[in-house]
Amino acid sequence: MAERNFRSQLTGSFSSPSKGNPTVAMVEAGYRHARLDARFINCDVKPANLEAAVRGAVAMEWVGFNCSLPHKVEVIKYLDDVAESASIIGAVNCVAIQQGKLIGHNTDGKGFLSSLRSVTDPKGRKIVLLGAGGAARAIAVELGLAGAAHLTIVNRSREKAEAIAKLVTEHTQATASAEGWSGDYAVSRDAEVLINATSIGLGDPDALPNIDLDSLREGLIVADVIPNPPVTRLLREAKQRGCTTLDGLGMLVNQALVGTELWFGQKLDGAVMHKTLADIFAQD
Ligand code: NDP
Repeated sequence: MAERNFRSQLTGSFSSPSKGNPTVAMVEAGYRHARLDARFINCDVKPANLEAAVRGAVAMEWVGFNCSLPHKVEVIKYLDDVAESASIIGAVNCVAIQQGKLIGHNTDGKGFLSSLRSVTDPKGRKIVLLGAGGAARAIAVELGLAGAAHLTIVNRSREKAEAIAKLVTEHTQATASAEGWSGDYAVSRDAEVLINATSIGLGDPDALPNIDLDSLREGLIVADVIPNPPVTRLLREAKQRGCTTLDGLGMLVNQALVGTELWFGQKLDGAVMHKTLADIFAQD
């Protein structure tokens, strides 16, 4: 008789606050669909307990865990190694545990890149990035490593945009420039992709970044990082003007696909995970 196994493989997320994070529902739907005997535990870990939580995951032989706010930078000091892009970005949101060693990755930008690749290859593209927070930083580095030609980073506080532009030019082949953001930003005619990586639009279907809407021309690719609501006002305005649009829900799903592949070496079903999240957000 085959030996029975009552022990699931363990994964999860460390963040605080954590109860509003729907990742567990999406990832476990992916596990079930793949018939993977694995669990994803959504843990509320306060900053003072991060080291104990990391040590606990190793002690309990977890396969890996995500790190969300406020741990993405702090966790690095407890890791054995950090992947190239995460090291450049200076933040880790996904840790794989292999033979007791902790390897840090950043899947924010990689998730965005996978999503973008469903409509275009960023190689050689001129890209405008709105925002200069954590999401923008991860996306900018990955776009640079993926061979984008030029990034224009636009942010209210210009010095944060300058810091990301410097990071990109120092660590990737891409060129990058920074612009302060006041008034309606007009996207230049030679830009091929516009990305909203600000938090404008989160939880507010009517919020719109300060953009000159007439500069959204047919053929421009307009992507938003906002996962909920997935169809932001920016994307609606862009679509009406003939742009190709890409929502932040795709980025979130792809980020989970990248992370779970790092943990299990197999790709889960993105459509099942996408539907699970879309259904949850539709109830908001
Ligand atoms: P941060 O707080 O680090 O950065 C927020 C950015 O938004 C800053 O550049 C800030 O500008 C800008 N911003 C906020 N309000 C305004 C405003 N009224 N006008 C102009 N700029 C504004 O957040 P993150 O980078 O971590 O996250 C940004 C968004 O990305 C969040 O909404 C998050 O939900 C989403 N996200 C989505 C992911 C996905 O998988 N889909 C993954 C990660 C994040 P300033 O610097 O001037 O304050």
